[in-house]
Amino acid sequence: MTRTFRTWIDLTWDKEGITWLVEEKRSSTFTKFTGTVVHVPSSNGGETSNTVHAFAHYVHWYTNGQLVMADLQGNIKAQISNNGKDFLVLFDPMTHTVAGNSGCGDHGEAGIKGFVNDHKCNEVCELMELSGLQDNEEDS
Ligand SMILES: [Zn+2]
Repeated sequence: MTRTFRTWIDLTWDKEGITWLVEEKRSSTFTKFTGTVVHVPSSNGGETSNTVHAFAHYVHWYTNGQLVMADLQGNIKAQISNNGKDFLVLFDPMTHTVAGNSGCGDHGEAGIKGFVNDHKCNEVCELMELSGLQDNEEDS
């Protein structure tokens, strides 16, 4: 008896709630700015690192301390944009939320508290007029 296997791609599955996020192939060389639970700059900073850490601070401020971006990493030697300036693509971030239900790696309020304890404001935070995180926590 001969068995026949038939292979096909079901193109209807995407209507059932599955979403694909596709990005261009990136370099395997990247810089890790923060970890999942560690938010201290890994080096002396620099403009890019300070900007990423200020971005994390901004997100915390913008969400009234309800969300923290973690595991921020990206390709520093990024492609050249149309205006001739380098840009950084952050990929594979994680979040910590008050509810602790944003996905894999969400450490909930403990993750948020870890960010508040670790973050040290830098020049970019100051330029953005972001207030100290300790003050924000006392307000909530
Ligand atoms: Zn800051």
